[in-house]
Amino acid sequence: MNVRSIYPNIPSPGKPRAALISLVRNSELEGLMQSMHQLEYHWNRKYQYPWVFFNDEPFSEDFRKATQNLTSADCYYEVVPEEHWSLPDWIDEGRFMNSLEYLGAIGVGKGWMISYRHMCRWNSGFFYKHPRLLEFDFYWRVEPDVHFFCDIDYDVFRFVRDNKIKYGFNMAILDDARSFPSLWSRTRSFINKHPDLIHPEADLDWLLDPLNSGDYNNCQFFSNFEVGDLRYFRGEANEKYFHWLDQGGGFFYERFGDAPIHTLSVSMFVPKREIWFFRDIGYQHDTNRHCPPQAYDRCICEPTSIDENFYKLVPLESPQKKPADTCIRQFLGGDWLKKKPGWTQEKE
Ligand code: GDP
Ligand code: MN
Repeated sequence: MNVRSIYPNIPSPGKPRAALISLVRNSELEGLMQSMHQLEYHWNRKYQYPWVFFNDEPFSEDFRKATQNLTSADCYYEVVPEEHWSLPDWIDEGRFMNSLEYLGAIGVGKGWMISYRHMCRWNSGFFYKHPRLLEFDFYWRVEPDVHFFCDIDYDVFRFVRDNKIKYGFNMAILDDARSFPSLWSRTRSFINKHPDLIHPEADLDWLLDPLNSGDYNNCQFFSNFEVGDLRYFRGEANEKYFHWLDQGGGFFYERFGDAPIHTLSVSMFVPKREIWFFRDIGYQHDTNRHCPPQAYDRCICEPTSIDENFYKLVPLESPQKKPADTCIRQFLGGDWLKKKPGWTQEKE
C-alpha cells in the first residue's frame, strides 16, 4: 500500500496504458450500450480510457456508430483471430460432442453451447494476446447488460498500477462445479510439475475445502467484472498454466470457465496483497449484485452487508432465477466472521 491507496486522487506520473474491453456480439448492442452508458456516466467520462470491442465476426456499422456515440474516448473494433476461436487439432470431436450433450442434459448453464466453450477459452488464454491489447498494460472487462451503480471518483487504473495490483474483482461466487470436474486435479498436477512457479507469498488456503480433503472449494471471482494487469496474464506462470489446462482438453470435454481459472491462476502466482476486492464499485450481472455498504451519497443501489450482497436485490433480468451463493468471506478471511453469541446480524 502507499499513500495513493488512501488518497487515490493524488496524481501519479503518466497515464496508465489501459483500456475497457468487451467481447460482445452484434446482437447484444442494446445490452452493451446500457453497460457502457453507466460506466461512462459514473467513471470514464472523467478519465477517457479507450474501449476495445472484440467479436468472433466483424462488427456491424450500427454497432460501431452506436458505441462510439456513447463515449468521447477512442473505440477500437477487433475480430478475434480464427485460431483463437476454433477447435484445436488435438481435440477429439466426438468426445466434445458428447460433452455438449451431457452437460446440456444435466442442466449445466450453457453447457450445450459450442460458442460458450470458445468464449471461456478465449477469456482464459487468448484475450491478452490480441495484437490490439499489446498496446496496453491494464484492462477492465465489461459485459453487455451489466449495471454500475456508483460514482467512482478516482482513476481505477492508476490505483491498480500504483499499488501493483495484478487482479481486481468485486464478487466471488460458488458456481456449478459439474462444469469442471477435472480442473482441480489438473491444477494439482501443474503444481507438482512446476512448484517453482508458485509465488512464495501465494495464498491458496482460502480456495481449499477442509471438509473435502483439501479439494478446491469452487469459490471463484466472478470474472464478468475484472480489472487486471495484462502483463501478468502474458507472463510465464499464467501462460504455462493455461497451456497445461488447454492441452488436457477441459475447455471442450468439460466446460472449464475463465472465472475459476483466473481465480486459481492469480491465487497461485501472485501474493494475495496484489489481488484487490473492489468493494467500492457497485455492480450487477444478471441476478448477482454487489452494492457497497455506507456509500449512500455516491451509489444508487440499496446498500447491503457483504454477506447479503447477493440476496437483497431487485432482480433486473430474470426474476425467476436465484443468485449464485457468495463466497467472498472465504477470500476476506474467516475468524472474525463467526457470529458472537446473541448476535443476529453482522455489520461491516
Ligand atoms: P455468462 O455471463 O457466463 O452467462 O456468459 P455470457 O453469455 O454473458 O458471455 C460472456 C461474455 O462473452 C459476454 O460479454 C458475451 O457478450 C460474450 N460472448 C459469449 N459468447 C459469445 C460469442 O459467441 N460471440 C461473441 N462475440 N461474444 C460472445
Ligand atoms: Mn454474462
